[in-house]
Amino acid sequence: MNPISSLRDLKQINIDYYTAAHTARQNGKFIAYVNAFTPVELLYAMDFIPIYPENHAVILGARRLSEEVAPAAEKLGYSMDLCSYARCDLGSILTGKSPTFGLPKPDLLLVSNSQCSTLTKWFEVLSRMYGAPMVLIDVPHSGNGEKDPQAELYVRGQLEELQGILEHITGRKLEGDRLRESIRLSRQASELWTRILLCGSQRPSPITVFDQFIAMAPIVAQRGTQVAVQFYQRLLEELEERVIRGVGALSNERFRLFWDNLPIWPELRRLSEFLDQRGAALVTSLYTWAWATLSVGEEDPFQDWAEQYLYTANLHLQRRIQTYVEYARQYELDGFLYHSNRSCKMVSQDIPELRRAVAEKTGIPGVILEADHNDPRLYSIESIESQIQSFLEMLDSRKRKAG
Ligand code: SF4
Repeated sequence: MNPISSLRDLKQINIDYYTAAHTARQNGKFIAYVNAFTPVELLYAMDFIPIYPENHAVILGARRLSEEVAPAAEKLGYSMDLCSYARCDLGSILTGKSPTFGLPKPDLLLVSNSQCSTLTKWFEVLSRMYGAPMVLIDVPHSGNGEKDPQAELYVRGQLEELQGILEHITGRKLEGDRLRESIRLSRQASELWTRILLCGSQRPSPITVFDQFIAMAPIVAQRGTQVAVQFYQRLLEELEERVIRGVGALSNERFRLFWDNLPIWPELRRLSEFLDQRGAALVTSLYTWAWATLSVGEEDPFQDWAEQYLYTANLHLQRRIQTYVEYARQYELDGFLYHSNRSCKMVSQDIPELRRAVAEKTGIPGVILEADHNDPRLYSIESIESQIQSFLEMLDSRKRKAG
């Protein structure tokens, strides 16, 4: 494995981000808990620091603390079938265990239901716990992604109303220049992130999806800031330099694979080493691409946000199949690893049909791995490794037959 040196900057970036969050009030800032499909550029322009309870849960999972915290939430009656992010975050509050010293108390909880319905219920619980107001951006499901002007008006109206709510909480008026600046920085970060993801199409790939999972924190939480832009500029420079010198993320890239669904955070290092030893490079994924599509234009950001939440965030099976077929060509894939994620039904329910349709259209096989994004009690890593091993042997034999 050839580690990417600019990823080391993330440690300080994350420390600074959580320090700024914990000291927000002393510095005249406000805290908003948010999920992926919310207008963070507007929040930054209004002196809010957006905080993602999902990211907090990722840190708990990646540090292998899930089993210490999630049971506290389960004791209150939250089933193990509910999202393990939610159980870990709530369990962390109940036990007081958290590598980030918990999260600061929110002034506002802002959630959009285009991602899943679990988040709405999770944020309702947090809203009651902290006695803080919650705003729901209600996003109708848009069938197969057809344009729906009525739905656009409905979502846009809620976003415009949100501006007034933010002004009421802060006692400050939105300044157009500040919004334009944060939109400009967000767009720059998204463009850089897109170019980083496209580097995976090179042979050998200078970056793996494991690196992308680690590198994605700023594009999630800090797009709209200079911090994200500078970090991705450094990362892209390093990757482009690798491409020129023909340096791959793996020393011996033999297979090029796609990763579907969320990572298995507690197993990131173990799986990364397992695949590296077998020359299997994860070169692209649905999850890391999701963050390349979230920037908006300065001309009419409210309309852009509304359309994004309606048409990009909502997962449509036919569009997903089409996207995977396109990735297969663009990244010259040998196989698909489909993570059937026990406690995230939203992203997992279509996987058998997805695998069948993609294999039919591309001839590229896939294997379904039964796991969970954050709870090691819901899978066996040994079984997953054994499945991947058999899958790679099958790919190897296909390659040899094809000459
Ligand atoms: S992991 Fe799945 S269930 Fe959990 S918050 Fe994300 S989309 Fe919702």
